[in-house]
Amino acid sequence: MRVLLIHTEFFRWEPKEPAGEIRDEPNRGEAKNALVAFLTVEEGDVPDDGYLSKIVEDIIDVANKVKANSIVIYPYAHLSSRLARPYISRDILNKIYDILSANAKGFSVLKAPFGYYKQFEMKCLGHPLSELSRSYTPETAHKPGAQQPKQTPDVYLILTPEGDEYHPAQFPLDKYPDLKALVDKEVFKKELPGGEPKYIEYVKRFAFDWEPMSDVGHMRYGPDATVMMELVEDYAFQVAKSLGIPIFKIRGTNMFKLSEKPIETHAKLFGERLYVVETDVDSILRYAACFQQFAMAKDWVISYRNLPFGMLEIADSYRYEQPGETVLLFRLRRFYMPDLHIFTKNLDNAIEVTYKLHEKIFEEIRKIGRDYVSLYNITAEFYKGHKDYLVELAKREGKPVLLRILPEQKYYWVLNVEFHIIDELGRPREIATFQIDVGNAMRFGIKYIDEENKVRYPVIIHTAILGSVERYLFALFDTAALMERRGETPKLPVWITPVQIRIIPINREYLGAALDLADELENRGIRVDVDDREETLSRRIRDAEREWIPYIVAIGQREAASNIFTVRIRGKGQIQLSRQDLITTIEKEISGFPKRPLYMPRLLSQRPSYKQL
Ligand SMILES: [Zn+2]
Repeated sequence: MRVLLIHTEFFRWEPKEPAGEIRDEPNRGEAKNALVAFLTVEEGDVPDDGYLSKIVEDIIDVANKVKANSIVIYPYAHLSSRLARPYISRDILNKIYDILSANAKGFSVLKAPFGYYKQFEMKCLGHPLSELSRSYTPETAHKPGAQQPKQTPDVYLILTPEGDEYHPAQFPLDKYPDLKALVDKEVFKKELPGGEPKYIEYVKRFAFDWEPMSDVGHMRYGPDATVMMELVEDYAFQVAKSLGIPIFKIRGTNMFKLSEKPIETHAKLFGERLYVVETDVDSILRYAACFQQFAMAKDWVISYRNLPFGMLEIADSYRYEQPGETVLLFRLRRFYMPDLHIFTKNLDNAIEVTYKLHEKIFEEIRKIGRDYVSLYNITAEFYKGHKDYLVELAKREGKPVLLRILPEQKYYWVLNVEFHIIDELGRPREIATFQIDVGNAMRFGIKYIDEENKVRYPVIIHTAILGSVERYLFALFDTAALMERRGETPKLPVWITPVQIRIIPINREYLGAALDLADELENRGIRVDVDDREETLSRRIRDAEREWIPYIVAIGQREAASNIFTVRIRGKGQIQLSRQDLITTIEKEISGFPKRPLYMPRLLSQRPSYKQL
């Protein structure tokens, strides 16, 4: 940061016209006997309290020495050629103003607006200390322990279904191994068990991988992976609709301007890990669907009769994760979120909706053979007024839950529930979530008209019932890893496997019979392919097994004539099935789940080799 200090007899300014999209409210001002601090925020400057306090301390020191009455913070972009991005500059200058106002006792403190061409007038006093310039970087200037706002620590409690509260250290955690894993991580900050998870090897068979030509944490999805992703997306919509409230599916953009006040505020309340795009207007990539849905909902005319309703988008979402922290299919810089926002009349209505939501969230994870252990992040005030609600949720879970009580509302929610599975290596992994948001409706101007014709702001629930698309798939693969650990054949649910049945003609003579059976299966919405390659039968069966294909059928003379097949079912061995029974068996497995066609050519001879088996 470059600082030019000028002691003036008088100083006045007036904004003339905007210089950019990121700007403060325009104000004019003047001061007598003023120390004016012309400040240029440079690349590398950070809104760190210790750093900015050091700069403020020097400004106050000079103001004392020259016996000024006032101090003026003056955003001035001309002292350096390496300017910081506007959104960072404005943030830092406002922070300097706040720190200065809190510490410059006896001075009147003023600040000229950021983001304008400004006219100014001054009379410099011309004594030895009247003109000084300084340069700071976060590495060279730091005031230890300065200005750290006093923070009351978060309190952790274990709440039982009977309504008893325990300090985590006093609770018999050994009886609840999953909860213990969560408490170890969240409360005692214990190192998680390490090791390479098994699922990383599995997912490569399905053509999930990193995209090395992009930023870290970005994935590529081959055809197998793509059909799985899109099936989960379809399923997320289906599950949302099963909540029994009206659901609207929408699409939007992924980039939002930081110059829009509600965007900037919500982004800050979200916290760390914003993915900023530096274009001519500074923007952020959305971290979920909130921005788009709120920006849309504010333009809808909503009556109380419409509430509650949900808006769903399969949102490409971006989080600026640390490069060393990214994990394939789990912690990504870019991922897909089937993000549902439910607009409700008020807090009571929201609470009512969350009971159904909570039930769905547990129903879905149990469908894949897993269970959640829950972390309820909750503001102290909300907990005080709603302990019964939390006890009811613990009761529905049938086991104790972990609460993290925040002394103040630091984020946009009053309640944020994280549902974790304990993975194959014993580590808690957050999958599903819901949050109750009491501030964004007003911030974005989302309104509804109540029974008495009054304008009201809905309470908004943010939720991902299945979690992000990638994390839901992670949970399926992790479940397969557990099967392998138990000595079983690892497998996926049939509805989501990219190829549900493979037909192998034992030689070219039976290709016609194979294609005929494939046609019939395909007409029933079953994803079927045909291995017509010039390979031995055993080689082709082995390849199908490596691809985890749930049903494998070879067709030769006997099968073609009798329509009775020897079917290899993954994890179950071989059985004889008639053509009709084969179809019925697969249909039964996938009934109630979404269907999509095969995302690659039916004939294996037409496929390049593109995945690691
Ligand atoms: Zn949201």
